[in-house]
Amino acid sequence: MNKLLVVGSVAFDGIETPFGKADKIVGGSATYISLAASYFKLNQCVVSLIGGDFPKNYLEMLKARNIDTSGIKVIENEESFYWKVKYDNDLNSRETLLTAINVFENFNPQIPESYKDADFLMLGNIHPRLQMQAIEQMNKRPKLILLDTINLWISENRDELLEVLKEVDVISINNEEAREISNEYSLVKAAKKIMKMGPKYVIIKKGEHGVLLFHKDAVFFAPALPLEEVFDPTGAGDTFAGGFVGHLASTSNLSFENMKLALVAGSNLASFCVEKFGTQRMESLTQEEVYRRLRNFKQLTQFDIELNEV
Ligand code: AMP
Repeated sequence: MNKLLVVGSVAFDGIETPFGKADKIVGGSATYISLAASYFKLNQCVVSLIGGDFPKNYLEMLKARNIDTSGIKVIENEESFYWKVKYDNDLNSRETLLTAINVFENFNPQIPESYKDADFLMLGNIHPRLQMQAIEQMNKRPKLILLDTINLWISENRDELLEVLKEVDVISINNEEAREISNEYSLVKAAKKIMKMGPKYVIIKKGEHGVLLFHKDAVFFAPALPLEEVFDPTGAGDTFAGGFVGHLASTSNLSFENMKLALVAGSNLASFCVEKFGTQRMESLTQEEVYRRLRNFKQLTQFDIELNEV
């Protein structure tokens, strides 16, 4: 079984959407990624840092899903990372109200010895310097290094981000982030520019308008499943990334064809994440529900057309 190492935040979120509010609920990039990846056959370990205020039973829930949490260090007399966000009425844009880094002030990711040879390394959204520190601790180059990032690092820590981009194979970002990194409006031009910065594969997420995968001159698109109810988009991007890497790690196939399926697997899982606040929906999700929705996905996108030569 392949080993997946996830490095990112395990945190508290305060979320306000047009449909309600929730404060100090569990979130974090690594939390969403690992929950999504737990739907696949692989060994996974999370590296993060939390304060004494983080609910211990949440770590137990992760462990019960075969997620190795020995890389999540606890500093008892400090507070966990806390992020507050408010979504606009259309849920497509959001404003960060507060980022309290708290315990993250002294975060130096420590990769457990048994995961320094991980086959897949998923760098969730954290400071690019910490992402680089994680890469540097690996004993051998993973088969695939994936990275997610946000506007904050693109605008405030661009040089460090560009350094770490040289080391990664896949970048997963949204359309605004792609435009900001590349200074290009066209997403095709943006992807081409980003590929020159290091990643051989560029994933551009467009929220409810689906996701694009670029590699060399090839492009693939997967739609987002049209949903009746979207409650809270927090973590959708991370859940997508967890599903994407989970599919690749469990199938051990890095062809572009298989990446297309990974894109669908990630989009499928992300469609559940947004149905409830925080990680609630992902906690109750069953394998059967995942498969059933995958069938809906297939129906949504499959069509037969006869094309005669002209
Ligand atoms: P997403 O909605 O997929 O972009 O991910 C949201 C998650 O990212 C939330 O659960 C936050 O706790 C986490 N997050 C937001 N900002 C940061 C940051 N600056 N560093 C690390 N994690 C963050």
